[in-house]
Amino acid sequence: MRYGVISDIHSNLEALQAVLREIDAWGAQALVCLGDVVGYGPDPNECCDLLRARGCLVISGNHDEAAVSDAGVEFFNSVARQALTWTQTQLTPENRVFLAGLPRERKFENFSIVHGAPGAHFDYISDAIDAQRAFARVDSAVTFIGHTHTAEVFYQDGARRTYHQKLAQGGRVTIAPGLRYIINPGSVGQPRDLNPRSSCALFDEDREEVEIRRVTYDVGRVRERMRDVNLPSELGARLIVGY
Ligand code: ZN
Repeated sequence: MRYGVISDIHSNLEALQAVLREIDAWGAQALVCLGDVVGYGPDPNECCDLLRARGCLVISGNHDEAAVSDAGVEFFNSVARQALTWTQTQLTPENRVFLAGLPRERKFENFSIVHGAPGAHFDYISDAIDAQRAFARVDSAVTFIGHTHTAEVFYQDGARRTYHQKLAQGGRVTIAPGLRYIINPGSVGQPRDLNPRSSCALFDEDREEVEIRRVTYDVGRVRERMRDVNLPSELGARLIVGY
């Protein structure tokens, strides 16, 4: 099976469309999303509609839960909270039901997906120490995570040594027998690894290979849309630098 793996779309429709074109051209047979469909960006409904129309297998992120229930809203900074409050007023009843019904993790035959960390759904895995802790709670050979908006891979050998490789410029990971992997495909709609291009992963299950790809999209158009709906300008500015 060939999976397109995406995460942290954050209501950025321009970026989502660009990434889906890349994933389609590669020939994905299924689409998986690791959460944070909404929050920050100007097109929450369009992003939900597109994922629903594509039959994407989605799990919830902290922004998705806060957009429909106020859950954990106290952990958001003020611009994120402003965008969330605005998102709450925009979501259609269908998309509220869609977001409210998302599970927090999914297990497939050969891999698992969770937004933040296995067993601690909204914790951040930012370095090898976080990953070391997370591997203790993992039973799949491959776990895909999002949440930090950083494309990277952590892997652990049989002696429980954990390694870390950043993939901000893209790259390939070959799944070796005996190793376990935590892979972050990076963020579609708000990259934070100083590469402003949108990020996604292409997982070829049969070839046991994951490729991170970075995709150019029209950032200027998203910033215009943000201005149109009066979202805080900082949220548009960070898209230019990828932070
Ligand atoms: Zn996010």
